[in-house]
Amino acid sequence: MNVWTDVLPWAVPAAAIVVAVILFAWRGFARRRGRRQRPGFQSYQPELLEALYKDSPIFFAVVDRHGRFLVVNRDPSSLLGYTEREMAGRPFLHIVDEDHKALTEDVFRRTLNGERCAHDIRVIHKGGHGVDLQIHTTPLVRRGRTVGIVVFVLDISERKRSMDRIHYMAYYDDMTGLPNRRWFTNHLREKLDENAAQNRQLCVVYLDVDRLKLVNASFGRDFGDMLLMLVAERLTRQFRLPGQLARMEGDEFAAMFDDFVHPNEAVKRVEQLQRLFEEPFELNGVPIQLTLSVGAALSGSGGDAVTLLRMAETAMQRVKENGKNDYLFYSSGLERADVANLKLHHELRRGLQNGEFILYFQPLFSLESGRVTGLEALVRWNHPERGLISPGEFVKAAEESGFIVGLGDWVLEEACRQNKAWQDAGLPPVPVSVNLSLRQFLQRNLVGKIADALARTGLDPGYLDLEITESMTMDVERAGQLLRELKELGVHISIDDFGTGYSSFHHLKTFPIDRLKLDRRFLSDVGRNPGDAAIAAAIIMMGHSLNLRVTAEGVENEEQVAFLRKHRCDEIQGYYASPPLPASQIPDLLRKRS
Ligand code: C2E
Ligand code: MG
Ligand code: MG
Repeated sequence: MNVWTDVLPWAVPAAAIVVAVILFAWRGFARRRGRRQRPGFQSYQPELLEALYKDSPIFFAVVDRHGRFLVVNRDPSSLLGYTEREMAGRPFLHIVDEDHKALTEDVFRRTLNGERCAHDIRVIHKGGHGVDLQIHTTPLVRRGRTVGIVVFVLDISERKRSMDRIHYMAYYDDMTGLPNRRWFTNHLREKLDENAAQNRQLCVVYLDVDRLKLVNASFGRDFGDMLLMLVAERLTRQFRLPGQLARMEGDEFAAMFDDFVHPNEAVKRVEQLQRLFEEPFELNGVPIQLTLSVGAALSGSGGDAVTLLRMAETAMQRVKENGKNDYLFYSSGLERADVANLKLHHELRRGLQNGEFILYFQPLFSLESGRVTGLEALVRWNHPERGLISPGEFVKAAEESGFIVGLGDWVLEEACRQNKAWQDAGLPPVPVSVNLSLRQFLQRNLVGKIADALARTGLDPGYLDLEITESMTMDVERAGQLLRELKELGVHISIDDFGTGYSSFHHLKTFPIDRLKLDRRFLSDVGRNPGDAAIAAAIIMMGHSLNLRVTAEGVENEEQVAFLRKHRCDEIQGYYASPPLPASQIPDLLRKRS
């Protein structure tokens, strides 16, 4: 680095002071000497000026009133690439960078009017690259008239470069070249203001590459780093605009987008993001399949940039807790559940580890034959202090906190295992029904999980029935695809609590489902509420016309049974026939009623 870089900011004033002091001292000295001996200081002035002119470490130029170079104090080629001859007579504006022309002109005009100015400008070297200069200007006055200006010039390119480098280090990630958290947060702040003014929503996503630690551990850190660069490159395929994507730390990235109108479109974009990772990465000939855990937050949820980022990160953390490779949009429930259900959540987790959950089974009966046609697995929590707790008390909290996914995995496997054990014991085989929660349904690897559970327990897929609810079918395209994949496994699908949620009958027809479970609310008052009775009858009829079996839930009395018989309902489930039973009582039931 040029030694002048550090001292140059001080050099002009210092040189001026030095010259002034020399001149002052010289004049005093000359005056005193002059009294004694002549000739005086004046006789040295030309040599002194000559020395200053030729040997000054500072470059300076004299420019005429029209802005043309008249003289320079030394060869300018090392600084600007032009020789002294090439410079002479050339308008100085010619070599000034386009962006700095207006400022330079202003400085020139002000100096002609008698002002001394100092500014940073950029000029273009003969070779085409920019050179950053600090200029100090002073008017050149001859006999009371300004005839031009003197420009003192310092080369500050090196200083600018190191400033830029410091800026880069503060705002960018060295490895991937992406902006870092600080930059992203600032940019997000600006974007939020902009979008609020235009009444637009913005979506922030927080991404974590799953199992990168494992890659680092197996292949080494350098390999992991290179993989992260490939990850960054792949993410930029979806987030192309500058500032849309940043590396937050380690294997975490954040991104933002606002090119959507309806939140559903934002959901689609997030799903698209996960699909980016379907194709494996290849590094040194090793194919590596990576997945992403994604949390998202919409600016509509309120809050500033930092809050929005935290929301997306919270949602991402939840995905991680629930077994990774999934996405989740932040909702206030996530956080409220955090505070209120922290203890419950902790207890639930511990309960699952300690084997405190058990399954009860409620049989379904054929109305025609009176035989058991299926068993619905219903989870219970055998709490060490509070005793048997019904799902009504914890399923909602488990759903909010995400615990339901882990619990659901256990229920699925346990129900399959139990059913297979009964079959192996020689009992008449019947399908077991398992309730799926919305969160389970939204997992991308649901089909794989179910296939694994079936494979591990050895249960024939034909003896597993999955209960979903209408709300899960709202994203028709996704639900249709998922249900088709599930059907291909050979399992049965039922719609639970039918009639309470939103369903498009049109789409119902296209979904590969086997059974509707008529919600118990339509039967609770069947004798006295003709409206409910009419709906129940219509649902049974519609189900049959779509070739679906219809099961009535919550059947408690003879009157309901008579009604259901009249409308040719297929099956009943409810206290009238049997409450949910502990597993120990099922073999007896199957032996007697199958
Ligand atoms: P669901 O799937 O509709 O299950 C039927 C519920 O109705 C069960 O309550 C059952 O005990 C109750 N029930 C059965 N017969 C009658 C009756 O005649 N009258 C009345 N009033 N109720 C009856 P449970 O076991 O408390 O489960 C409540 C809900 O919790 C279930 O509703 C289901 O949505 C959820 N749930 C239960 N187990 C699981 C599970 O393993 N996973 C998931 N995701 N949800 C579960
Ligand atoms: Mg159910
Ligand atoms: Mg139900």
